[in-house]
Formats: sequence, C-alpha cells, structure tokens
Amino acid sequence: MAKEDTFETLRFLTPELCFEIADKVGSPCYAYDLNSLKKYANDTLAFPNAYGLTVRYAMKSSPNAAILKLFDKMGLHFDCSSVFEIKRAMAAGVAPEKCSLSSQELTDGFEELVAKGVKINCCSLLQVEKFAAKCPGKEMGLRFNPGVGSGGTGKTNVGGPSSSFGIWYEWADKAAEIAKAGGCTVVRIHTHIGSGSDPAVWRKTTGMSIALCEKFPDVTTLNLGGGYKVARMKTDKGTNLQTDCAVVKDVFEEFAAKFNRKLHLEIEPGTYLSANTCSLVCLVHDVVQTGTSEGHTFIKLNAGMTDVLRPSLYGAQHPQVVVPRTPTEEKASYVVCGHCCESGDLLTPAPGEPETIAERTLTKAAPGDVYVVEACGAYCSSMSTKNYNSFPEAPEVMIVDGKVHIIRKPQILEDIWKNEVDLPAGAF
Ligand SMILES: *Cc1c(COP(=O)(O)O)cnc(C)c1O
Repeated sequence: MAKEDTFETLRFLTPELCFEIADKVGSPCYAYDLNSLKKYANDTLAFPNAYGLTVRYAMKSSPNAAILKLFDKMGLHFDCSSVFEIKRAMAAGVAPEKCSLSSQELTDGFEELVAKGVKINCCSLLQVEKFAAKCPGKEMGLRFNPGVGSGGTGKTNVGGPSSSFGIWYEWADKAAEIAKAGGCTVVRIHTHIGSGSDPAVWRKTTGMSIALCEKFPDVTTLNLGGGYKVARMKTDKGTNLQTDCAVVKDVFEEFAAKFNRKLHLEIEPGTYLSANTCSLVCLVHDVVQTGTSEGHTFIKLNAGMTDVLRPSLYGAQHPQVVVPRTPTEEKASYVVCGHCCESGDLLTPAPGEPETIAERTLTKAAPGDVYVVEACGAYCSSMSTKNYNSFPEAPEVMIVDGKVHIIRKPQILEDIWKNEVDLPAGAF
C-alpha cells in the first residue's frame, strides 16, 4: 500500500481550534467533542436486543465528570472497575443504583455501597465468599471467564485460560454453592471477552455466555461486557453494532424459546463510546536527526507516555497530524517520540511492537507547530504514566458548538508533591 493512503487528517478539530487550544488553554491538552460523544452513545442505545437493554459506560476508559454527567443524562448506566470509580461516579451525581462493579479487587467496605443500591458482579470464588459473608441474603452477579476471548493484543485479552478475569466457567457449580450458603440469589451473569466485528464470533461468544444462565434459574440479566472494536486508523475496520451484533438478539430469542426465560441484556462499552471522541493537542518541541545514511528524523513532542501510554504499552496505532503554523503541502518521514527520559516513550511504534520504531509520513514539521494525536478518548487521559518526570497532568476541554470549554484545569505543579512528608529533624 502506498504510504499516502495512510496519511491522516484532523477529525473534529480545525487548525483554528488547535491554535486556540494550544495557545490559550496550553498544551498538551485533551480536547473532547460533545457531538461525537452523543453520536456514539446513541449508537450503543440502539444495540440489537430482544427483551430490553441497559448500556453501561465502562468509565475507566475516560472518567471526567463532564462525560459521566452527559451519559447519565442520556440514560446510560455505569460499569465501574473499583469501589473508587463508584465513588467518583456518585460524586458526579450518578445514582448508586446505576453503578455496577466488576473488579479485580473487592475492597473492604463494598457492603456499604451495596446497601446504597450498587450492583456487584463477583469476579472470583473469594469474592463470592466475601459477598456472601458481608451481604447475606442479597442479590449478586457472577462474572465468568467462559473459556474464550479475543483481545487486540496478548495484554488486552480478557477471556480464555491466559486471562485472570472472572470465575473460570468450570467452577460455576462451586460459585452457586457458596452463594446459596450465604442465602444470596444470583440474578446476573457477566462476561467480558471482546468479540470484535465478526457475527460468527458474536454468535459463539454470546452462546457460551447465555449457556451459563442455564445453571442459574434466578438469573434475569446477561451482561456481555465491552470490547467492541473501533476504527482508530483510517485503515482499521470497526464494529457496526447494528449489523455485526444482530445475532445477539437471535441468541436471546432462541434461549427464550427453549427455556421460557426472557433475559434482559446489558452491554458495557468503554472504547466504543469514547475512543474517537477526543484528540490530544500538543506541540512539536524539537526535530532532531541521527545521521544521513541509516538515521531517522525524530519529532519530539511536549507530550508523551504521560498522556498517551497505549503506543508504548501495546504498540497501539493512533492517527497523528502535524498542524503547521505556516500552511505547507510538504511531507516528510518521521519517528515521533514523547518528552519523557525513557526510550520506550514512543508515539510511532511498529503495530503491536512497542519496542520497534516505525516511520510515519507527516506534514513537514518545525518546532512550535501544533501536533495532534487522534483517537485519544479511551485509556489515554485515564491510563498514562501521570507525573513521570514531574510533568503535570494535562488539562481537558470539551468542544461544544465550536466553543472550547475547560472541563479539567491544568494540574498545579506543587500538587505533584503535596502529599510528601519530611522525615523528622536529624533523621539523616
Ligand atoms: C474495561 C471493561 C469494559 C470496557 O472494555 P472496552 O474494551 O473499553 O469496551 C467493560 N467491562 C468490563 C468489566 C471491563 O473491565
């Protein structure tokens, strides 16, 4: 494929908005687009279903209160990955009944949240024991690992024998026994395995998840989790919820015909709702070359793994666009790196290979030009090596009708070390 075919352009930003953000708010800065957030939310609310649907936003993908409030108003519920996320959602005004917890760690004190109406999906046999002990007689959900999964990379795979998430499906009877001993009723089955865009895979994974409901006669809800692939790069293929996931409705109807049980569907997209709704606006800080024969031309940004960790962690590909101060049609080939003193701080790794550098064709760049990393809505602001090298946390803005609104202020430098405590006098 010719390199020109992969040349990326700005998504919802304009050069004027880029300069306004970089020069007035400061950079790096995450810029979210209200219209895009609404569009993706409406897509998920129309997910094919037979007997009712609850869409839960996996808030770990991007938890700013402005986004939580918007989705809450639009009728979405929330998937929380820790008790702290539940508290964060509640602080943004979300009702506890709309929060469900599926967590690797069931932190002490969860029972107080259950008393307020929070739903818990127990994710291991120990969690079922803890729940039965602390919340006897209450309703619970069980998160299972149904034995298969499909993640983008080894590190993002969330099902199958190499994944620690959820109760291994063969221990379903054991889980039922522990729940029963505590007088608890299992009303929800949860799986989260990421089924991508192949309808045949959807039929298989939905079938495996719904089969788990056969063992639990009181189950009224099946939660299929998230993991809906989106197209970040121009050349990616995303999931079309309407067509690719239509089989989910069929599987629920077949189950109802066979067992006379009409199950409610829950889905929990994070990436799908947020990935393509935000652009990181930063600056070209420096351009350096490493010789003319085997060398590369490197762009150094004033942002990096402190703001977008996915390329360094997974070799994830993000569209990237130089917005020159003086418009030019000239292009050049670059390796792009971040501002951290860390060789792994790379924005252009080879696909799936975080340790291999790759070149990108970009508009010719000079120090001071604006640089935009696109598709930064999911797992960027929320999952970065925040404060490494003592770079302050970047601000966040929301674009509403072409206007820039600050939704998170830049971090005050002193806040980075404000929790540090001096040793007693004379200790060294
Ligand atoms: C992370 C997570 C999701 C969202 O996954 P995406 O890939 O962002 O859609 C949904 N459910 C659970 C339990 C998760 O941990």
